[in-house]
Amino acid sequence: MSDADFRLDGKTALITGAARGIGLAIADRLAEAGAAVILADRDACEGESAARELRALGFSARFMTIDVTQRASVEMVAAELESEGIALNVLVNNAGIVRNAPASEMSIEDWQQVIDIDLTGVFHCAQVFGRHMVQAGSGSIINITSMCGEIVVQPQPQISYNAAKAGANLLTKSLAVEWAKSGVRVNAVAPGYTATELTLRGRSNPEWFAAWMAGTPMGRLGEPREIANAVLFLASPASSFMTGTVMTVDGGYTAR
Ligand code: NDP
Repeated sequence: MSDADFRLDGKTALITGAARGIGLAIADRLAEAGAAVILADRDACEGESAARELRALGFSARFMTIDVTQRASVEMVAAELESEGIALNVLVNNAGIVRNAPASEMSIEDWQQVIDIDLTGVFHCAQVFGRHMVQAGSGSIINITSMCGEIVVQPQPQISYNAAKAGANLLTKSLAVEWAKSGVRVNAVAPGYTATELTLRGRSNPEWFAAWMAGTPMGRLGEPREIANAVLFLASPASSFMTGTVMTVDGGYTAR
């Protein structure tokens, strides 16, 4: 395997939820590998500034507003890209939220919001952008799911998140099988606890954090770049025979 297998020169990648955290690290990593990156997020202020910082490093980066829960918003981004003659080669469905509440008390709003973003949002983007990839006969889609799509972590209760992430794992495999012959590969990266805003609440709760670290054999949080490296592998020709895989990056959490 040569270094060229891990390059994305001449490719265009769109990453949702890329204004910060894991999504921004993915945009940075794919740009370093040669891709032109589109940071798509609902937060325009943070997203524009993130794209500006990547451009200042010499990368090709732009921001586009998207709300992955809104079909019209996803279609608008796709239409704008098409009108500019831009074809996506890589799509990373990374936007996600978590809501913590005991199952018996979780509001239907908290249930729905998480399902809308973490599961239906992945479907909207994969379908709308994926159609173009299928027509073009190539592409790589990577869904950022979670180790929580495979196991129930404790002590924090998060039934909607666990269900959405498990759904996104099977959505990944379903699309992979349906699109395998079209040249479009669909894989997932399932992170463990990673140092981002999403984990701020748990990191500042001594009981939760102690349980997180006790459950992680490597005894530390993941860094966003460690997740991004797995995404680069799945986005690049290095993984050309991989589709329908859920690649876990969790410091050993799910190995116990
Ligand atoms: P962050 O909260 O740091 O970043 C998530 C980004 O997604 C934010 O910019 C957020 O914008 C954006 N977003 C939320 N909803 C939408 C939407 N409807 N449309 C477009 N963008 C949206 O989270 P992480 O970087 O930690 O998480 C990234 C992904 O990784 C998520 O899917 C998460 O579930 C997954 N993950 C994270 C883990 C961790 O430990 N951090 C572990 C396992 C999986 P806004 O500010 O408006 O909310």
